Amino acid sequence: MPSSSSTSRAPTASLTADAPVRGLSGVGPKLVERLEGLGIRSVGDVLLHRPIRYEDRSRITPVAELLPGQAALAVVRIEHAEVRMGQRRSLRVSARDGDDWLALRFFHFGSQQQARLAPGTWVRVFGEPRLAGYQLEIVHPECEVVADAAEGYAITPALLPVYPTVSGVSQSRLRDMVTQTLALIGRADFWPEILPEALTGPALSMTAAEAVARIHQPPPDVDVAALMAGEDPAYRRLAFEELLGHQLGLRSRRRQIRSDRAPAMRDAGRGLGPLFEGLGFAPTGAQRRVIGEILADMAAESPMLRLVQGDVGSGKTVVAAAALLTAVDNGWQGAFMAPTELLAEQHHGALSRWLEPLGIAVWLVTGKRKREAAALTAIADGRPGVIVGTHALFQESLAFGALGLAVIDEQHRFGVDQRLALRNKAARRGRRATTAHQLIMTATPIPRTLAMSAYADLDTSVIDELPPGRTPIQTVAIPNTRRDEVVARIGRAVAEGRQVYWVCTLIEASEKLEAQAAEAAAEALADSLDNVRVSLVHGRMKATDKARAMNAFKAGEIDVLVATTVIEVGVDVPNASLMIIENAERLGLAQLHQLRGRVGRGSVASHCVLLYQGPLSDTARARLSALRGTSDGFEIARADLELRGPGEVLGTRQTGAASFRIADLVRDADLAEAALAVADDVLAYHPREAEALIARWTASGDDYARV
Ligand code: ADP
Ligand code: MG
Repeated sequence: MPSSSSTSRAPTASLTADAPVRGLSGVGPKLVERLEGLGIRSVGDVLLHRPIRYEDRSRITPVAELLPGQAALAVVRIEHAEVRMGQRRSLRVSARDGDDWLALRFFHFGSQQQARLAPGTWVRVFGEPRLAGYQLEIVHPECEVVADAAEGYAITPALLPVYPTVSGVSQSRLRDMVTQTLALIGRADFWPEILPEALTGPALSMTAAEAVARIHQPPPDVDVAALMAGEDPAYRRLAFEELLGHQLGLRSRRRQIRSDRAPAMRDAGRGLGPLFEGLGFAPTGAQRRVIGEILADMAAESPMLRLVQGDVGSGKTVVAAAALLTAVDNGWQGAFMAPTELLAEQHHGALSRWLEPLGIAVWLVTGKRKREAAALTAIADGRPGVIVGTHALFQESLAFGALGLAVIDEQHRFGVDQRLALRNKAARRGRRATTAHQLIMTATPIPRTLAMSAYADLDTSVIDELPPGRTPIQTVAIPNTRRDEVVARIGRAVAEGRQVYWVCTLIEASEKLEAQAAEAAAEALADSLDNVRVSLVHGRMKATDKARAMNAFKAGEIDVLVATTVIEVGVDVPNASLMIIENAERLGLAQLHQLRGRVGRGSVASHCVLLYQGPLSDTARARLSALRGTSDGFEIARADLELRGPGEVLGTRQTGAASFRIADLVRDADLAEAALAVADDVLAYHPREAEALIARWTASGDDYARV
């Protein structure tokens, strides 16, 4: 009921927005813990906990007009109440509005509540009626006792916010906390206006305080659809401020890291000649250019923070090798961090092939592999060399004696946290602490505004050219009903000496189920194809078995590799020219693009078959057709952004960068642009405001400011 929350005690007048929520009245330790799950830690967080919808409490619905499934407000007189035993003990109340009866049912109730609902009492109830037998019934309605029908009908029209919540935190509890916090807004220092006055524009039609009040207690005449869509001026006002705060956080973090010392690697380029000679191919112009950009950064005394974007197959590993080589040539260690063990092993293979002939040690350190004490000692002692591993490498206590460069492959799989953890792996040379240079590589191309908003702390290089001689991948979508044709096609491809990937996918499947599906598929293929050597890789296999299967496939001893999505990123077998993706309709565009990127790496024409289970949803159809239409990663990223939204494109909150509370980078693209445009000025001319904005919008979330 709208009025029920006003009974809460007034919170301590001295509460500040960054004070812990436990300062609000009625918030005990247990609740604090649960609120944590909602991202609510400070009192200010309460204000930014946005409603998911609003319930219309502007009208009383006569019982005769109630509909099952449609939450409504009604006024009834209680005629009868009894405790029923049945399967579950419940309190059943019969009430009526004239000749129309409504049942109320409570499974959790105390004697107090029972007493409150005595016959003759008028109540205003809110809830979603359902049909129980022939009668409408509301289970656990919100109930407010009123003096009589007249008082029951006298409501203040309101849109009541409904919040996202977790078990153990009721709507009324959340509303009460919001009401308490909104009461504090009247105090000038509680939720002050931070945006410098010099900033004007359409986003600034109201103050931040007015905006949060409007979101939690919208006026009855508000356009609810616009409010829910985040298009109301209140949302735009807050979204702009959030985007700006976020941008400022990234920039100041960057400035802080930049103020660290890094080892200046001046002899850059010396080892490149021998490296290139040993590759067996000439680097593309784009690879050379990007290597140049990286080496220029590494020659400086402040840490490199560079993102390399290059579509699948554009040759990022060579670029990384050049950087690692430079670090080692300068007497430092270079680390290469891959998202999966399979990839770490593959990178270890390529890097050893290229760098060991130049006299450089390349160590593989993965979680499962039994670690060689000798390698660990060498790494801890600071012996120059390259260390390849998974991100687990950096989270644990592996000691680097002289880490000068960290390369992070397939960044979209890593979080900001991991990126930050690197900074703490500072190496010590003599008496000076240094921070390693950071090179981050991603095959997920990101549209500009998104990149600027998410990676403002990074410089960017783009490998915008594929190695020559690649032929475009022909992509077709075929329904599962024509599976036999696809199998026959595999037989023909193998007869021509080609190799084939068969990718099994399951949505939200456990690794176990996925492994079982892959095993079944491998068996079925082996049964129906004569003279075809089929093998299997999946996530449940031992690392050594996976590596053995991959190596056999690479060596051409296997014709068809049945795999789960473990092969999604980075796996490189140029002779594989046909890929079948099962249940393609279930995967996202970026993932499909990554998978497909496993073929089309050699000079023969490659094909990708998207095997789908009909009927297709509209988005699934749109995804498959986007994929058939282009193999350009940037175009796919754009389509992906439209179909999925930025959070997912950036790796569903994994990057931290995408976890906005109010803003939405697609919907608020214009505001993101506006925030980018003013960020430098705010930092330069309004440092105090900048600090306050960072604290308000990032402090309890991504910890940028505190790094
Ligand atoms: P990415 O990591 O960008 O997806 P890789 O580094 O795995 O791509 O490279 C893909 C394949 O292309 C590898 O087999 C690699 O050796 C090869 N390659 C890289 N650069 C070139 C080049 N300039 N010319 C020919 N082949 C190249
Ligand atoms: Mg790669």
